[in-house]
Amino acid sequence: MSICTGAMLSGALIGNATAPQLWPRDTQLATLPSYSGSDLELTVNSTGTHWRLWSPEAEHAQVLLYASDRNTPAIDTLDMQRSDSGTWVASYPKQLYGKFYTFRVKHNGKWLDETPGVWAKATGTNGQRAAIVDLSTTNPEDWESDHGPALKSINDAVIYEMHHRDFSVHPSSGIVNKGKFLALTEPNTKTPQGLATGIEHLKELGITHVHILPSYDYNSVDESNLQINKYNWGYDPQNYNTPEGSYSTNPADPTARIKEMKQMVKALHDANIGVVMDVVYNHTAENDGSNFSLTAPDYYYRHRQDGSYSDASGCGNETASDRKQMSDFIVNSVKYWADEYHIDGFRFDLMAIHDTATMNRVAKELKTIRPDIFVYGEGWTAGDSPLPKEQRALKENVSAMPNIAVFSDDIRDAVKGHYSNAADRGFATGKPGMEETVKIGIVASTAHPQVDYSKGANSKFAYASSPRQIINYVSCHDDLCLTDKLAKSMPGTTEADRKRAARLAQTIVFTSQGTPFMFAGEEIFRNKKGVHNSYQSPDSINAIDWTLKSANADQMEYYKQLIKLRKEHPAFRMTETADVMRNLKFDNIKQPNLISYSLKNHANGDVWKEIKIVFNGNTEPVEVNIPRGNWIVIARDGKINASGMGSLKGGKVTVEPTSALILALEN
Ligand code: CA
Repeated sequence: MSICTGAMLSGALIGNATAPQLWPRDTQLATLPSYSGSDLELTVNSTGTHWRLWSPEAEHAQVLLYASDRNTPAIDTLDMQRSDSGTWVASYPKQLYGKFYTFRVKHNGKWLDETPGVWAKATGTNGQRAAIVDLSTTNPEDWESDHGPALKSINDAVIYEMHHRDFSVHPSSGIVNKGKFLALTEPNTKTPQGLATGIEHLKELGITHVHILPSYDYNSVDESNLQINKYNWGYDPQNYNTPEGSYSTNPADPTARIKEMKQMVKALHDANIGVVMDVVYNHTAENDGSNFSLTAPDYYYRHRQDGSYSDASGCGNETASDRKQMSDFIVNSVKYWADEYHIDGFRFDLMAIHDTATMNRVAKELKTIRPDIFVYGEGWTAGDSPLPKEQRALKENVSAMPNIAVFSDDIRDAVKGHYSNAADRGFATGKPGMEETVKIGIVASTAHPQVDYSKGANSKFAYASSPRQIINYVSCHDDLCLTDKLAKSMPGTTEADRKRAARLAQTIVFTSQGTPFMFAGEEIFRNKKGVHNSYQSPDSINAIDWTLKSANADQMEYYKQLIKLRKEHPAFRMTETADVMRNLKFDNIKQPNLISYSLKNHANGDVWKEIKIVFNGNTEPVEVNIPRGNWIVIARDGKINASGMGSLKGGKVTVEPTSALILALEN
């Protein structure tokens, strides 16, 4: 077993270009027949209960039936018969709702351990046995008419990344179902000071989508002993097609986690908030003991030349999306979540472990379900892979994946300092020399005549073919959160200084072309006590302390207005590179730590003719020349109001230290 730290997910480790030598068995596995039918593993219909397991190399296969989810002997064992395309089948002439089952296969003369299979859609405690459940009984009321917010483009989304436990577990949340899916269904929860928490807080903030950290069944939290309050991010997948039991009110009841996750989705949709799932198909928690290995040994993974598990995930193994049955698995699994749970978007962990062809299939198939489902991912790996570089879903290869977006580590590291060096500063914290990389972020890594990619700190070419392919951010669950990063890189400063730097950093993110993404709680200046890799830290590190909402009310107000500004003004959300080239003009500035640009021509149908944006990353005020005109002041000196706060005439204008100046011209 390996424990994934989840902390190596930030860099651009892309490996070497020479093709590695393959393990001979890997070449042979790729030739096994695949099965593309929709009846894999379990079907219940009028004739009874039917199983079809894909296990092409098995010598025998069995279904074991159980009356309960664990610690009881099998009530029956069914021998499976060989069938088409590497599958084995068995049937029982009754609908066995309420019962549990596992598979067992004989491989190389040896019976392997039991497994719920790879397609269990319901499980009991700790995901050990699959459950036979009528999914139509798990739907909330009005589920048929449920849908997420309609989007014209991914660029219209404002993404809020959260962990179920971080968000609700602190006593100040006022939420009853702490750390549960149901936390997001509770209306009108409040802090002790009477401010909104939970779903009301999200509505108040104005984000359009929550991105929930892994919510499929993962390995690290013991669902039979929840009172010990173990915490984990969940990057250790076990059952990909069933929700995590510890987020339900009763892990032993297979329907509870399904019903409660759907209720969460419904409550968010009713609030016009979409749900993005973080999916981790790139590796599994276990190696030989995973459900993949126990059904089709070796097939689902890539190996080194000596047959050991290749480890581009840094978590002990890497899956093989370049093999047909694994590629189909990923595609069908995301389709299942989109169909059954009405999920609105998917974030692919270490996406570059997957091949571009699979990712293109994912995006295409999801769009046939609903055209506004979007997909983004980490365009890097955490180690080298036998998959040739040109096939990897790297950010450098995103132009080959027109409907996929990637995280911009360019803007992230340039604005706040490098992720791997706590003391390193960025543009927003006074480090000179990052201007060109910030500009790469502003144009969403698309080609622009005024951006010199040779000066980029992380990327040397315009890798995105449109702003739809870029997710902009300055922090996420990985690495130091923004508050902690600022504390470590700005010693000797006041909290007020650091809040100001956070505002400037996020103003750059939220006004840039591309799609903005923020980490939950940044709007109230939450911290993680300096712990950069909090994947299994206790609640005392990870929980958001909601009393910060009144302590940092000014920060919350700034974020609200910033999000409102972005949502009201399509100029910040251009979808085509040609539009950005035509409408976004940088001013020729020689001074370090200063960027000035305009969004012109009522860009993207904006009511404003021109928006002037100046970022001053210096700790001193600077003077800039603003063109003639009567400008509405939108942001100045660490304050912002999307509806304007007075006006100023063109001419020499002072931009205060560590702040953004945003001005708008109506005609
Ligand atoms: Ca679990």
